[in-house]
Amino acid sequence: MADITHLRASSLPLAFLCPASARPPKLRIVQSNDAADVGTAVHEALRPLVETGRLDWDAIPGVAARYGADLEETRFLCARANSLWSRVQGSFPDAVTEVPFSDQIGDVELTGTVDIVSLGEEVARAADWKTGHKDSDYKQQALAYCALLLLSDYRLQEASCTLLWVRDQDVETYRLDRAGLGKWKREFLARVVEWNGAFYPGHHCGYCPRSHECEAANALIRRDVAAIADKELVARAECAIELMSPEEIVSVLQKADTVARYAERVRQAIKKHVERHGDIIANGLRLTIDTETRRSIDVLKAWPVLDKHFSDEDLAECITVSISKAEKVVATRAGRGKGAAAVRALNGELDAAGAVEPKEVKRLVVKRA
Ligand code: SF4
Repeated sequence: MADITHLRASSLPLAFLCPASARPPKLRIVQSNDAADVGTAVHEALRPLVETGRLDWDAIPGVAARYGADLEETRFLCARANSLWSRVQGSFPDAVTEVPFSDQIGDVELTGTVDIVSLGEEVARAADWKTGHKDSDYKQQALAYCALLLLSDYRLQEASCTLLWVRDQDVETYRLDRAGLGKWKREFLARVVEWNGAFYPGHHCGYCPRSHECEAANALIRRDVAAIADKELVARAECAIELMSPEEIVSVLQKADTVARYAERVRQAIKKHVERHGDIIANGLRLTIDTETRRSIDVLKAWPVLDKHFSDEDLAECITVSISKAEKVVATRAGRGKGAAAVRALNGELDAAGAVEPKEVKRLVVKRA
């Protein structure tokens, strides 16, 4: 008898790496996650795109507000998804969205809600929006969706699942036929369900719901902290990085990111504590919340004053225009159903006037090769 009775397809990438992660933690901790809020809002906003072929731009602010997601980020990801969907939509005729599936495999009920499903007579196609960077391996989630599709209808001979990487504008497709389904189910049962009791820590522990109570993860973090806190390593990274192998550079960055993530969690916890309970004084130091008051100008009230004293060139020196806010104003003014055309027209005019200056932002990110 298995010690778990239910698993979600979305938990399988981690469960295949470390089956212990699929077992419930003794203490459940719910953490808010901004990236997840944006991801949920984008998934919701993309449903009309898949079902009607058109993105409802006017609805995006409401959807972002409903999930507490950053509007600019939600809009940016929707625009990227719009462009990616135009490339692949031909492969998903009559697609429907958010389709729930469940089936019994051994003693475990496997469930999953598939973002996009297109059913043929013998072949089913699924797709899953991915709004993060292409850094993790979601193969086992995609194969679980393929398995659920095949199990849902005996007439289907093949199922595929395409991961739609919105930020990177990339796609990744996995397939299962009937023979592959049997093999995948055996592997799932052997690896995840009939767990041998071992823990397999790694950088994936950062995504595990048991990481706060897991000794194996704790040992790994201690190792990473010790490695990063080594002054020789810091000196080599700063002064002799060309002598390090690519493998060592990747490994050092992963360790540094893990340590930074944990350190930030500690900082945030202490900040919250000081905000709630007041200053902490110890060791000759005071932990306190420093409040800075910065002056800002109410543009509408300031406009007559600025207009009186400033030339156009002076005004241009002082004023920054937010493209997303300008788009929001024209879209709102144009009214429901006409917002997208108004935004396109505005951007066309700004481009023609040579007013749009691209600005490159460079960030170091980790992606799968
Ligand atoms: S924290 Fe890491 S080692 Fe521990 S259960 Fe989760 S994935 Fe496994």
